[in-house]
Amino acid sequence: MSAEVLLETRGLCTSFEVRRGMFGPKGVVKAVDGVSLAVRAGETLGLVGESGCGKSTLGRTVLRLIDPSAGSIRFEGRDITRLSQSALRPMRRRMQMIFQDPYASLNPRMRVREIVGEALDIHHLGAAGSEREARVEALLKRVGLRPDQGARYPHEFSGGQRQRVGIARALAVEPRFIVADEPISALDVSIQAQIVNLLKDLQEELGLTYLFVAHDLKIVEYLSHRVAVMYLGRVVEESPAAGLYAEPLHPYTRALLSAVPVPDPTRPRRRLVLAGDVPSPINPPSGCTFHPRCPIAKKGLCDVESPALRPLRDGHHVACHLAE
Ligand code: SF4
Repeated sequence: MSAEVLLETRGLCTSFEVRRGMFGPKGVVKAVDGVSLAVRAGETLGLVGESGCGKSTLGRTVLRLIDPSAGSIRFEGRDITRLSQSALRPMRRRMQMIFQDPYASLNPRMRVREIVGEALDIHHLGAAGSEREARVEALLKRVGLRPDQGARYPHEFSGGQRQRVGIARALAVEPRFIVADEPISALDVSIQAQIVNLLKDLQEELGLTYLFVAHDLKIVEYLSHRVAVMYLGRVVEESPAAGLYAEPLHPYTRALLSAVPVPDPTRPRRRLVLAGDVPSPINPPSGCTFHPRCPIAKKGLCDVESPALRPLRDGHHVACHLAE
């Protein structure tokens, strides 16, 4: 892993206007609320949290597939927060996305070799004729498909194979940075490990940098060098993966990890069950937004003051008044 910071966000916010009920007043949902993160070249930053916590929106915002409402995004040292889509186009090649549902993201009327070849054409990377064909074949092979499968349509593939096509399409333009948005959650458990191992091999071989969005903490641990935990649009804990899994400091992270099965049944982990549901992001709780569910919340402090993300030790940051 290099020291180069490939992607950096500062105070990044993404808001959406919503209406309460059909005729109700308009409100604003802050799906991403002041997120500051840095991803170094060659590393995987795992982004975890319950569904609706804003992790997928953050992944799309850093790629400028959604416009941020505040804060900044730097990619390869360049501020891309307000770049027009035409100015972004040359950079798009180096920042790609792998989607949760590969079927929805693949044109059903195109053969797989056209889908992969189209990515080459869009970025003017495709040599013509046999050279282009050879490139597409090499990409299919690289993701574990046979070159002759390029003649098939997406519906002729299994879920895992479709995800391989999605990965080949992302790789076609030789990206440096990939946002993988829940890339295995729609797949059978037996296939998940194959795709995760493929992503890991590709990273080692090509020096790729990943933002890996997932809710499966076991897989995130396996793939990630660092992990950020999100709750209601904010990062509440961020740490090198080993430190976070060995000693989670935020009560929310502790609760998430307590639900992960341990390999040794003779040493069961005490399950922490969170009270209540995730609050509505339209009307988030005051102070620490986790306080209505937090088992150790302190009245007069947690319900009043919002905790900042602060460094505690060894690159471990936590947003909790009581963490030490
Ligand atoms: Fe719980 Fe308070 Fe820490 Fe929030 S700040 S996680 S409510 S102890």
